[in-house]
Amino acid sequence: MDLENIPKIGKKTIENLNKLNIYTIRELIEYFPYKYNFYNPSNINNASNNVNLTINGSIESIPRIVYIRKNFNYLSFRVLSSNKLINVIIFNRAFIKNNLTCGRNISLTGKYNVEKNAFTASNIMFTPLLNTFIEPIYHLKGNIKNKYLNKLIIENLNKLQIQRTIPEYLINKYKFMNELIALKEIHNPTSIDLLKKAKLVLIYKELFDFMFKINYLKTKRKTSETHILKKIDKDKINNLILKLPFTLTKDQLLAIEDIIKDFNINKRMNRIIIGDVGSGKTIVAFIAIYANYLAGYQSALLAPTEILTFQHFENIKNILDIRIEKLTSSTTKKDKEKIINKLNKGEIDCIIGTHSLINSDVKFNNLGLVITDEQHRFGVNQRKNLQNKGHSVDVLYMSATPIPRTYALTIYGDMDISEIKTKPSGRKEVITKIYKENELKEILKLMLEEIKNGHQVYVISPLVEENEETNLYDVEKLKEKLNIAFNNKIPIEILHGKLKNKEKDKVMENFKNNITKILISTTVIEVGVDVKNATCMVIFNAERFGLSTLHQLRGRVGRNDLKSYCLLISNVEKERLNVLVESSDGFYISEKDFELRGSGNLFGTKQSGEMDFKLANIKNDIKILKQCNIDSKEFIDNNQENNFKEYPYYKDIIEDINFID
Ligand code: ADP
Ligand code: MG
Repeated sequence: MDLENIPKIGKKTIENLNKLNIYTIRELIEYFPYKYNFYNPSNINNASNNVNLTINGSIESIPRIVYIRKNFNYLSFRVLSSNKLINVIIFNRAFIKNNLTCGRNISLTGKYNVEKNAFTASNIMFTPLLNTFIEPIYHLKGNIKNKYLNKLIIENLNKLQIQRTIPEYLINKYKFMNELIALKEIHNPTSIDLLKKAKLVLIYKELFDFMFKINYLKTKRKTSETHILKKIDKDKINNLILKLPFTLTKDQLLAIEDIIKDFNINKRMNRIIIGDVGSGKTIVAFIAIYANYLAGYQSALLAPTEILTFQHFENIKNILDIRIEKLTSSTTKKDKEKIINKLNKGEIDCIIGTHSLINSDVKFNNLGLVITDEQHRFGVNQRKNLQNKGHSVDVLYMSATPIPRTYALTIYGDMDISEIKTKPSGRKEVITKIYKENELKEILKLMLEEIKNGHQVYVISPLVEENEETNLYDVEKLKEKLNIAFNNKIPIEILHGKLKNKEKDKVMENFKNNITKILISTTVIEVGVDVKNATCMVIFNAERFGLSTLHQLRGRVGRNDLKSYCLLISNVEKERLNVLVESSDGFYISEKDFELRGSGNLFGTKQSGEMDFKLANIKNDIKILKQCNIDSKEFIDNNQENNFKEYPYYKDIIEDINFID
């Protein structure tokens, strides 16, 4: 129901409510306080000096207005409270003078100066306060007042027929407070205990609805989509696996199995591979491409950067004997036309590329698989656009942000998950140390040692490219510094976003071929770059990065059985960085990062919006979320057949979902 249906509501008020994203009565009622103020009546005789408290008392003198200057005045009067006569002042409330009649019982909140026997009130209520009073506080915009909003919500709550949502058997199972009572309690709390109970049921409702939608989408995809089965010759896959230069890990094999299974059932694949940096996701993707090829379909591999595109292109050519091309923004117009033409005719089996793949002029002959590497770098729509270039295309994502499974459950919604937890064998832990800036000498010594042993070094400077001029200068300056330190004897190159693509490739190639010994870079290399001979990662101003990003950067070294180092340079924040010294477990680190910085940072801003719950907080309420996952699955299983006939609220939700999807 729209706000216009509220009797006597003014146009201005509606506008103000709209500013708070409130458009319907339901939204009004579910506009929850973000905090509460607690008022407890206390005895003035026990008051500590200048500490906030609330007292009851009666007015004993006619208030006097004292004007200090324009728009600044105070009321002064005497109050008898617990047999003590005190002087009260209250600023800028001259307009309530006439309400303050002698003998009236009031309650005051403020600070009491014991020595001066003076009470400075910040709040006044015209009835004495008998019990704890809990005042809900809302986020406000425009000139709507907290009290007024609260009153409006409560009035509508009392009038409105609120639809029951949570299935009754669950309410009974958990002995939840009635939902309507909970709504009243949250806007008009009667005790801390009841407020807690109210919050619990409303959080459960919010998370149950969320998981209901996700799980419904999952089952829907299973049952209703038409999807062509892909016949795959497993012997050929096994042969390829045997020919690889290394033995696949258990989790890699399991992920491959998951994918082949997905190809073989009557449902579009929608899978994400989550695995720590260096866990070997790429080879799994290549095998998926091969399987898709064996079934007679084209594949597209979407990479976030050009560097990564080229790296994948080179690697895949060594492994698969199929027709592969690459497409990026630096592909010439002529080549591009040729490639698109071939794609269209089905003369290319696999295309690897950046955003350029998403362009509308790129058309496929029979696209059967889209793989997105480092999926968090792309928006949902970009991914969908590529996927829509074929019919019922199988979709595989790869993510190096190791998210604890329960969080993954929410963020990755209706995707199936394969985790690669085991690392390829023979990997040594990267020795991680924290240094202060004035310990540069030691760092340089270590770098030199590694280079003398024939290895290579990354140096990361956190300056992002947005501040072009200054940054460029800073990275250059760093190079100069290092050149001086090493007597110009060591080949150093710089990689940053300002370089032309051709130049970037050249820099990367020189580093790959061990011509350059030190690569100074902004975080361009964060994603995916694989140079096995690099054994040392030096990060300046490490405090500017999130723990997960630092872990990703560290993942660039330690890619074989050589001893490797990660040197974090920072003059501050030792404690946070210590997490990295102590652990090399990406899942643990991301959890810590999550604790320290919140979900928005971990998941990237694009997705965090989807995680904005009204009351729930997935960090604190993860147990409830898990339970809601189980409960909603069971609820769907038991009610899907008769279309949620007994549950009109959920019937409406699925109608909405079906309409959008
Ligand atoms: P990420 O999961 O971070 O994308 P990559 O796929 O780039 O990791 O793999 C990291 C490195 O490990 C690559 O050089 C790859 O060839 C190598 N690799 C992958 N799987 C194995 C394995 N089972 N045994 C040994 N090395 C492996
Ligand atoms: Mg990768």
